[in-house]
Amino acid sequence: MAQNEVTCRYCKESFVSRRGKPGYVDECPNCLYEKTAPPSQKNIGNKGERAIKRLERELRAQGVKEEVISRSTQMVRDIWQ
Ligand SMILES: [Zn+2]
Repeated sequence: MAQNEVTCRYCKESFVSRRGKPGYVDECPNCLYEKTAPPSQKNIGNKGERAIKRLERELRAQGVKEEVISRSTQMVRDIWQ
């Protein structure tokens, strides 16, 4: 076994752990990247849906007509997608 070679705690691949590397000592660069990678388009989509639901609730609470609410949320969806 090479010096500083460790087995990744996640994918069980062995790799050379460098001193001062980010993340855990037994966390390979690939798994570290997957954990810190920016959110995918899908996550952004989910976030958008949540915002739309929130908007719907707020409009409803203000007594806005269902018809107007669905038109506004559709407009927001069109912008996001
Ligand atoms: Zn790994």
